Amino acid sequence: GALSDLVLETAGLTKEFRGFIAVKDVNLKVRRGSIHALIGPNGAGKTTVFNLLTKFLQPSGGTVKFNERDITRAKPADIARMGVVRSFQISAVFPHLTVLENVRVALQARSPKVFHFWRSVRELDHLDGRAKELVEDVGLGPFLHTPAVELSYGRKRALEIATTLALDPELMLLDEPTQGMGHEDVGRIIELIRRIRTGRTILMVEHNMSVVSGLSDTITVLQRGQILAEGPYETVSKNPAVIEAYMGT
Ligand code: ADP
Repeated sequence: GALSDLVLETAGLTKEFRGFIAVKDVNLKVRRGSIHALIGPNGAGKTTVFNLLTKFLQPSGGTVKFNERDITRAKPADIARMGVVRSFQISAVFPHLTVLENVRVALQARSPKVFHFWRSVRELDHLDGRAKELVEDVGLGPFLHTPAVELSYGRKRALEIATTLALDPELMLLDEPTQGMGHEDVGRIIELIRRIRTGRTILMVEHNMSVVSGLSDTITVLQRGQILAEGPYETVSKNPAVIEAYMGT
């Protein structure tokens, strides 16, 4: 049948750490093709939600559905294979490989069979073409042959996103994509996320409000493990409870 409008849906998602409830009864609905931001003060439970979605943690209660399939008990590798990939999770950047080589390695990791001993030259060419495309997509075209170690911090993060894209995720989870970045790099990452959103859904944890407002279709605000507010930036940012949550911490 037709795919549901929701790519990801949690129901009653709960996580308890030895009596402390870090995530409580969260019903998160992520629309297909949207950029969805998860925000909230420190300790609100954002990282725990990400860990529950990627199966780094097992929930104490509730369910997680991806494309209407119950993935509550799936393993991290299964989730990745289904198309849910968290940046900086699977993809590591090798400092002494060039930008192109790093992306090529990530592409190889995705389809190991192609790299059989008697792989054809055509397959290698194809892979090289795809690697170059990905490097262009994240704006690193001029740095194709630059070793990763020589890239600026912001460009290194862009390279990490390229290696994540190599896995062709349907749902991409971005963990504070602009963390620690200067103004210029933040602008580049915003452009990058706009470029790569086509055909995918992006769920991100982000603290920088100009990034959140500039990119997100929907924002979910967490506070003390629960959803405090949800909606587009215009309404969420005017919500008195949200304003108070941010001022009160
Ligand atoms: P955020 O990412 O929004 O800052 P976290 O998900 O990291 O919040 O944490 C939510 C709450 O759960 C915090 O109070 C934190 O101390 C607690 N917490 C997170 N992980 C653990 C753990 N492994 N054991 C105990 N408490 C934890």
